[in-house]
Amino acid sequence: MDCDILIVGGGLVGCAAAWHLACAGLSPLLVESGHVNGGASGQNAGSLHFQIERRFLEQGAQAAEQGAQIVLLNKLAIAEWAGLEAMLDRPLDIEMTGGLMVAETEAELELLAFKVARENDLGLGTKLLDAPAVRGLAPYLSSGLLGAGFLAEEGHANPRILADAFARSATARGAHLRTGTAVVGLTMERDGFYRATLQDCERRYEVRSPRVLLASGHWTPQLAAMLGLNVPLYPVPLTMSVTDRTQPFLPYLIQHVGKRLSMKQTEDGNLIVGGGWPSRFEFGADGKPDLDRPARIVPDNLRANLAVAQAVLPSLRQRVLLRSWTGTTCISADQLPIVGMIDAAPGLFVAAGGSMFTLGPVLARLLAQSIVDNRPAAEIELFLPRRFNHLNAFAVLT
Ligand SMILES: Cc1cc2nc3c(=O)[nH]c(=O)nc-3n(C[C@H](O)[C@H](O)[C@H](O)COP(=O)(O)OP(=O)(O)OC[C@H]3O[C@@H](n4cnc5c(N)ncnc54)[C@H](O)[C@@H]3O)c2cc1C
Repeated sequence: MDCDILIVGGGLVGCAAAWHLACAGLSPLLVESGHVNGGASGQNAGSLHFQIERRFLEQGAQAAEQGAQIVLLNKLAIAEWAGLEAMLDRPLDIEMTGGLMVAETEAELELLAFKVARENDLGLGTKLLDAPAVRGLAPYLSSGLLGAGFLAEEGHANPRILADAFARSATARGAHLRTGTAVVGLTMERDGFYRATLQDCERRYEVRSPRVLLASGHWTPQLAAMLGLNVPLYPVPLTMSVTDRTQPFLPYLIQHVGKRLSMKQTEDGNLIVGGGWPSRFEFGADGKPDLDRPARIVPDNLRANLAVAQAVLPSLRQRVLLRSWTGTTCISADQLPIVGMIDAAPGLFVAAGGSMFTLGPVLARLLAQSIVDNRPAAEIELFLPRRFNHLNAFAVLT
């Protein structure tokens, strides 16, 4: 069996790419080893964070400067999210009612001022609020906060909905979707086509395709390795928590410029707390982290996460913790997403790394456009795998 393009992974990125490619007239085959949205796309915090994330700021000035480039993409992502419900013609539980990135110390306030200035330089309308302004906007937050960055377009969305909506819309447009089907082998043939070995619960068979998109989240390096290629993405297991419901009072996404924190209230009234606190991988018999098993919660990290959250939102102490869970994401060697064709392997595309809930929809659109046009869209130049070409300088594909 042949197809126009084989997409490996039914998370947000793969499903959104399938939709855009199908809309462009291609006939993608998307294979997903489990079920749609079963990976990080369905386990994440649902934050739409368009301010520069703390992880870009904590590694010194040079990393912060490089990370600031993400703002150009974040601006596109704002427009993308604002148009998603109309594009897919269905409600998607998206709230873009603003986000506060708070500071508790003078040093954090200084970092916040640097960040907001950089964002403003790059055309993002973040405002630097002093303590009285924060209290005026969000009186339920700690009176000890010294300030916050406020971005009116930030917010959150329900991570359980979007990938599935893209998948349904894509299949309605002619994309083929096979769940419970894993890629277990991938080679390049002499004519430049890729041959993928697929395994479902009944059979093992092969497909040939001139193009392959690895939209496989933290499994992407494993798939690239089947071709002898290196993609510098590293798996990161994280912790999330949800409380019982309470009256709606928190319209904002809350983040912290100096500590790991994200917090929001869902439409149903639950508070979701996270922000990048690591969990611990289970290890396989081979001594390596088992990427297929859920990671284990680290109790000290969970407690620390909740303590940071309670310091910012004191009323959180009155809530009941319903559930905590783990999910695995991946970051790239320079923390920016890796999106586009791998030069050493014509026709092989990757899209992973970083905050792909926020950025997945826009990057999937830009990548699909690049695939159709046969040249990278200008907006993804900064994120092309090309910056890691040295890692594949010795690759032998056929
Ligand atoms: C706890 C947590 C909180 C997060 N919070 C946020 C947030 O608030 N905001 C934000 O922007 N981002 C957040 N992220 C990151 C975000 O969730 C991910 O970047 C994004 O969901 C990645 O989407 P994806 O489609 O690339 O990967 P995934 O959703 O992981 O999908 C990859 C899919 O590929 C499939 N697959 C893998 N190997 C194969 C194979 N061999 N054959 C077939 N299928 C295969 C997997 O089964 C999986 O379904 C968070 C991540 C985690 C884990």
